[in-house]
Amino acid sequence: MKMTASQEEITKIYVTPSGVAIIKCPDCEMIRTLTVDKFRGTKHILNIKCSCKRLFRVKLEFRKFYRKKAELSGDYVLLPEKIHRGRLMVVNISQGGVGVHILGTHRLSAGQEIQICFTLDDKHGSVIDRRAVVRVVSKNNVCCEFKGNGSSHDKALGFYLMV
Ligand SMILES: [Zn+2]
Repeated sequence: MKMTASQEEITKIYVTPSGVAIIKCPDCEMIRTLTVDKFRGTKHILNIKCSCKRLFRVKLEFRKFYRKKAELSGDYVLLPEKIHRGRLMVVNISQGGVGVHILGTHRLSAGQEIQICFTLDDKHGSVIDRRAVVRVVSKNNVCCEFKGNGSSHDKALGFYLMV
């Protein structure tokens, strides 16, 4: 069967760690979510037919760390004792984690676990409140990897990273 979709640019879709792609129709802007984990490592371009009859193509991007620049204030607390806490600025964000700039002095080091909370500047002001592991510390710049999954967060982050 021949492809009938036009030769326009293929939209890249970043797949969440839980294997969900959030796809928006270029015509009617209807959003659908597809479980695409089964395509990991195999089929990367999908032909989508929207209910408005529009045909379009998307390319699945399974890369874990698509990072988007950000400037979001938030705070953190060191786990498990919750004594050491402070303010931070999220400077980049991905489905897998965040890069932050710690405001003031801190005593974070690689391998520690923190609870990190910040608000996205999306239209819902989605609050992201996640456990994360500190991976890299360079002075006040800290890279953290999210732990576990936060399915509602995955979706809010997915939308945030799409625009
Ligand atoms: Zn449509």
